[in-house]
Amino acid sequence: MELLKQYIIKEGFALPGNVLKVDSFLNHQIDPRLCVSMGKEFAARFSDVKIDRVLTIEASGIAIGLMAALEMNIPLVFARKKKSVLMTEEAYSTDVFSYTKKETSNISVLKKFMPQDERVLIIDDFLANGDAALGMARIVEAAGSEVVGIGIVIEKSFQAGHKRIRDAGYRLESLARIKSLENCTITFMED
Ligand code: 5GP
Repeated sequence: MELLKQYIIKEGFALPGNVLKVDSFLNHQIDPRLCVSMGKEFAARFSDVKIDRVLTIEASGIAIGLMAALEMNIPLVFARKKKSVLMTEEAYSTDVFSYTKKETSNISVLKKFMPQDERVLIIDDFLANGDAALGMARIVEAAGSEVVGIGIVIEKSFQAGHKRIRDAGYRLESLARIKSLENCTITFMED
C-alpha cells in the first residue's frame, strides 16, 4: 500500500533489535485518515470472502481493526492482554509472548463475543515472529470458528512470522512488507 509506505519512509525509525518505531501515526499518535484508508484496503483485499467478525489485540490493533470492521459492516472484538475485574464471564484464553515487551501474557476474549461457526478475520499492526496472530487464531479455533485470513499493517518479512502463518495454512495479507531493518535502514520488499 503506497500511502502507508510513504508514511513509513517519512516518519518511521528503525531501532536496534529489528524494531520499527511508528509511534507518530500508528502506535501512539494515530493518523485517522491513514487508518480509514487501511480499513478500506483490508476490506478490498478480503472482499472475495464472507467475514462475520474482526478479531484484533489491544492496544494498537484496535484503531485499524475498527476501520476494517466499519468498512465491512461487521463487529470488532479485541483480545485483552490483562485480566479485568469486569471479565467475570467465561473466556477463551491463550499465552502469547510479546515481541516488544519480551514477556508472556495471557490474552483473552469473552466467549459471548467469539461465537461458534463464524468466519473471522484477524488484524494486527505488526507481524514479527507471529506469536500474536497465531495466539488469536488459537482463540478463534477454540471457539469452533474459522480463521479466513490474517491482515497485517506492517510485516517484517525477514522474521519468522510470515513463514509460520503460511505453513499453518492461513491466508496472509500485509499492507507493507519490510525486507530488512539492518543498520537501522528501512528496506522494503519489492511489490
Ligand atoms: P509477533 O507476535 O508477530 O512476534 O509480534 C507482533 C506484535 O509485537 C505486534 O502486536 C506488535 O505490537 C509488536 N511488534 C513486533 N514487532 C514490532 C515492531 O517492529 N514495532 C512495533 N511498534 N511493534 C512491534
